[in-house]
Parts: sequence; C-alpha cells; structure tokens
Amino acid sequence: MTVLCLVERDGDGAADASLRALAFSRELAASSEASGTGGDPGYGEEPAGSNPPGAPGENVAAVVFGPAAEVPAGALAVAGVTDAYAVESDALTGYAPLAWARAIAELITASSATAVVAAATDHGNEVLAHLAAITDLPMAANCASAAHASDGRYRLVRHRWAGSLLEDAALDAPVALLTVAVDAVAATPAAVPAKVTVHAFRPDLTDGDLAVCATESAERAGGVSLATARVVVGGGRGVGSPAGFGALEELAGLLGGALGVSRVVTSQGWRPHKQQVGQTGTRISPELYLACGISGAIQHMAGCLSARHIVAVNTDPDAPIIARADYAVIGDLNQVIPALVTALRERAGLS
Ligand SMILES: Cc1cc2nc3c(=O)[nH]c(=O)nc-3n(C[C@H](O)[C@H](O)[C@H](O)COP(=O)(O)OP(=O)(O)OC[C@H]3O[C@@H](n4cnc5c(N)ncnc54)[C@H](O)[C@@H]3O)c2cc1C
Repeated sequence: MTVLCLVERDGDGAADASLRALAFSRELAASSEASGTGGDPGYGEEPAGSNPPGAPGENVAAVVFGPAAEVPAGALAVAGVTDAYAVESDALTGYAPLAWARAIAELITASSATAVVAAATDHGNEVLAHLAAITDLPMAANCASAAHASDGRYRLVRHRWAGSLLEDAALDAPVALLTVAVDAVAATPAAVPAKVTVHAFRPDLTDGDLAVCATESAERAGGVSLATARVVVGGGRGVGSPAGFGALEELAGLLGGALGVSRVVTSQGWRPHKQQVGQTGTRISPELYLACGISGAIQHMAGCLSARHIVAVNTDPDAPIIARADYAVIGDLNQVIPALVTALRERAGLS
C-alpha cells in the first residue's frame, strides 16, 4: 500500500513545500502501521507498489512530472521515499492541471495508493481538485496532520480561516486526497534515508486533458522563495510608490531574504501578486518578518502568523501591527530602511 505524494520541482531539486508534504506523507504512512490499517483501499486493481521487504504498513512514493533522469532522487531518499514515478509524456511540455490529475488517477490504480498528498500550493490544490472530480473521491485541503483511525477513517486537523482556526475532521474515503498547509509541517528528513527506485510512467492523455497547459513559466526573480524564506522584508502602502521598493529589495538581499508585500501594493500594481503576503496571498513562516509601512490588517496577519519574530516599522504607534510585533520602530521607513541598508553594507564590507 502506498501514500503517493506529488513533488513539485524547484530548479533541479524538490520544492521545499513538497519536502514538507513528504514529511506529512511519512507520518500518515507510519500511522497506518500504528493503527494496523493499510488493507484493501477498495479503489484500483492489483498492487504494484514496492514496500521494502519486511516493511509493514505503507510506503511513500513520489510523483514527479518530467523525465526519469531529472528526478531529484537524492532529496527524495533523504525524505524517506522508496519509489518515484517520473511522469513522462511528449505532450506534457509544462504544467497542465487536468493532465497531471489524470496521470495521478492512473497511478492510484497502478500503485494501490491509499492516499494522495500534495502541498497546498496553487498547483497542489488545483491538481487535487481535478483529481477529486475525476475519481469522485473527497478532498481535504490545508491539512496540518492526518492519521489512520481505528474505525478505518482518517483523522485530520485542518487549517481554516487562513490558519486562524484549527478544525478536527474525519474523512471517510477509500483513497484520501489531502493537501498540506505548508506552514504547519516542517521538512524533516526520514530517520533512515531510503533507497529510491525510479519508475518511468507514461500516462494515457487525451487532447482534452491538455486543454489548459502552461507554455511558459517565469523563473523566480531571486534565489529565495517567499514561502520558505528565513527572512522576509515586507512593504505596504506606507512605501508610497513602486520606486520605494528598491531600498526594501536591497535590504532583503543583504539579509538573504525575500520581499513580501501587502494587498494594497499588489492592487495598486506596484508589485506582482506572487509577492503578496496574507489570506489571499502567500503564507510565510520566516525567522524574521520585517514589516515596513504595513498596518497589520487581519487578512495580512493571516499570512504571517507563523513568523517567529515580527519587527514593525511604522509612523503610527497605534497601527494594529505594533501590538502584534515583537519589536517596533516608530518612525519613517524612508529614514529607517536606508540607515539599516547602510549599516549592513558597511558590515559586509560593501561600502
Ligand atoms: C477578502 C479580503 C482578503 C484580503 N487579503 C489580503 C492579503 O492577502 N494580504 C494583505 O496584505 N491584505 C489583504 N486584504 C486587505 C487588507 O484588509 C488591508 O487593506 C491591507 O492589508 C492594507 O495594506 P497596507 O497595510 O499596506 O495599507 P494600510 O492599511 O493603508 O497601511 C499603511 C501603513 O503604513 C504606515 N505608513 C505610512 N507611511 C509610512 C512611512 N513613511 N513609514 C512607515 N510607515 C508608514 C501607516 O501608518 C499605515 O499603518 C484583504 C482584504 C479582504 C477584504
């Protein structure tokens, strides 16, 4: 029996969000051992999964879209993956949500999967929603944990209301379709690295499956992903103009971090939506969130609840974010940020 996990790529490696989804998958597979479940899932045919000899319970298998030669086997081994299915198709030149779902639906049968897990990224949620529609299986999004229960169901804890509420839920499904709230799970390695067997898998796709297909993907501008950055420098309406973000970008670079912004900033067209932090943007969980010229509306705070430390720079001592911050600088960011940049440049021997 197998827990399938969709692994998204990040350059040559596995995306951090997917490594977290793999850690989640491992826990789920181990809970099957603990509860003694892991029997016939009631969906699919002959098992083709490859539990290591003598291993009880379920194994974790990765689904990676692209050639077998490009599967990040090293990262998968560290994450405890025993099998990796490289989905190869001449027709699949880029991200195609329905085609990805169709391929995973075939893999559920081929691997006798009891669960399919993906990170709750835009792609993960979209693909699993299509998969749910194709297979007529229920899907639970934004899970923080999942385990087999003795009654044969899945016990879930899910993030609701952008993570401000935790929901206990039970899922009754022959194959569970779950996405993982990425800020709820750490990308921990397996206790013992696994030996990964890579299987090339060619799905049976129709033209209809490829009706939506990304033909071009923009590379991320910087080297650090907003969702997983250890430092995020945030800018809000208080930055005042698109040009004002130059100093924040430089500061983020000096700190080895990423730039995040509020929704006002993306609505104004000052920065792209992919940099938005919040309920309708990216959830971040950095060690340090330096929020500059951001008032701290509840929808913004929903995206940075997991930040370890928040430092606010704001002219208004009564701005809501001040009450939520560990430290606050009451002042004009046009003075504070350049002073910080100068100090960091000097320390780095750059000026
Ligand atoms: C359904 C819904 C979803 C939403 N989703 C999101 C979301 O995902 N993310 C998000 O961010 N918002 C979201 N919002 C919008 C949110 O409610 C706020 O409107 C938004 O976060 C405010 O952005 P801001 O803090 O940049 O602007 P403002 O609230 O206008 O705050 C600007 C701050 O800058 C300070 N300031 C001004 N000048 C300076 C200066 N020179 N130096 C220092 N400080 C200065 C001000 O004192 C003020 O506190 C959502 C709203 C709705 C209704």
